[in-house]
Amino acid sequence: MNLKKLLKNLEIEKTNEGCSTGTKWLKSGGEKIDSFSPVDGKLIASVNATDAKSYEAVVLQAQAAFETWRMVPAPKRGEIVRLIGNELRKEKDHLGKLVSYEMGKSLQEGLGEVQEMIDIADFAVGLSRQLYGLTIHSERPMHRMYEQWHPLGVVGIISAFNFPVAVWSWNAFIAWVCGDTCVWKPSEKTPLTAIACQKIVAAIFKENGVPEGVSGLIVGGREVGEMMSNDVRIPLVSATGSTRMGKAVAAAVGARLGRPLLELGGNNAIIVTKDADLNIAIRAAVFGAVGTAGQRCTTTRRLIIHEEVYDVFKKKLVAAYKQIKIGDPLDENNHVGPLIDTLAVDAYNKSVAAVKKEGGKQVVAAGVLSGEGFESGCYVKPCVFEVAPHFEIVKHETFAPILYMMKYKTLDEAIAIQNNVPQGLSSSIMTLNMREAEQFLSHKGSDCGIANVNIGTSGAEIGGAFGGEKETGGGRESGSDSWKAYMRRQTNTINWGNSLPLAQGIKFEV
Ligand code: NAD
Repeated sequence: MNLKKLLKNLEIEKTNEGCSTGTKWLKSGGEKIDSFSPVDGKLIASVNATDAKSYEAVVLQAQAAFETWRMVPAPKRGEIVRLIGNELRKEKDHLGKLVSYEMGKSLQEGLGEVQEMIDIADFAVGLSRQLYGLTIHSERPMHRMYEQWHPLGVVGIISAFNFPVAVWSWNAFIAWVCGDTCVWKPSEKTPLTAIACQKIVAAIFKENGVPEGVSGLIVGGREVGEMMSNDVRIPLVSATGSTRMGKAVAAAVGARLGRPLLELGGNNAIIVTKDADLNIAIRAAVFGAVGTAGQRCTTTRRLIIHEEVYDVFKKKLVAAYKQIKIGDPLDENNHVGPLIDTLAVDAYNKSVAAVKKEGGKQVVAAGVLSGEGFESGCYVKPCVFEVAPHFEIVKHETFAPILYMMKYKTLDEAIAIQNNVPQGLSSSIMTLNMREAEQFLSHKGSDCGIANVNIGTSGAEIGGAFGGEKETGGGRESGSDSWKAYMRRQTNTINWGNSLPLAQGIKFEV
């Protein structure tokens, strides 16, 4: 891959500042962040992180821009987002390739991530004409009551490395049509893709007279995220990442009674019943477990398999794992690319050691790859272990392609196993039995934010609300009515009569 040309195409070849109010890039005294590609271990670029002074400038500009942006009619704001979607269509190949190279996911998944941005732009455009409130019948004569939704202000967005651009767009595109301005703190592991997005958006905003500050960028690590969490000027902080991070953000934002919107870790299971179509189940399990090298929040981490089909399923799984090709994710013949960095490899090794220590039986061997093509030290083998559901390690999310399989006898037992983890993001049942499917989806079924039938746990369409329960944080982003999180609700009552009747029939004569 010609990196120089790619960076030039995206107009980020000279980038070294990571702090921007839109078209302006601010000189910042923050630490230097080196972005290395996990694909080949090469340095892509170095970026100056945001410091307290440049952070202040970005937030002040976002506040000033809000004054103007909130008064632009919502469909007009939608029109701007439509233009961003069009530009992303033009830049899809370049941006998708950079996502793949900087994050390490396959080229198809990199392009897919940009497609998700385009889709959410389309969704947001339609939404810009549908920010509906309710009308409510008043108990008082000649009164009218209704609810309306107003923009919130400056929305802070903290994103994770594994979806370096799509998750930002889920938040920003919806927040913009709602009339908010945004300040984005991307993962310090993927600063270049964020800078590329900022350039694309800033050019469209400039051409269309959108005020400087509607899109702010503050590259940096945890400390920069903490500045936003503690900042009373930011009414909503939408944070995607680990449960550890979410707890810290929730505590800081909650302490100032701000609004956190959390999208945190998952520990997703597929229940394979004896009435499953095993071919569908195998495809879903393998893609779910090894896609993005196990680094999706919705990655399949547990298989809960009926004892009658356990052995045959295991055989098919082992055969499927034998076909998996590991290597450069930009080469479309490979199925699995690298982990994000060597720290992630350490976490993989630790979990493999832990499951072995607890008595897990190896079904497909683990290991770190070395030699030609694997010089970055970030490539690991997708592995499978037979475990008992009570194992401590099975309750944890390890962000790597480690799959645990276990047996069950009754559906009640399978659902209890699936729910007995701290996380509650995605879940799935493989069955052609209608009663089993309905039980799984019922009040006594899956406790996750996403529950699927005959589809794996991994990935989701932008039209539905995305998010999960328990330690996944309870937030919902992207489709359905998730937009309400980005606005404040106001109840209005108008008296058009000539007296002042009080609510609840209260009498007050003077
Ligand atoms: P991470 O928690 O290490 O970092 C995520 C972001 O939070 C980064 O931008 C980081 O700088 C910032 N951050 C870290 N500590 C912070 C703090 N105390 N205050 C403010 N900001 C802080 O996560 P990661 O390794 O980048 O991503 C992987 C995790 O993200 C996994 O747990 C995965 O399941 C989760 N994830 C969840 C979803 C979802 O929608 N539920 C989507 C993608 C990723």
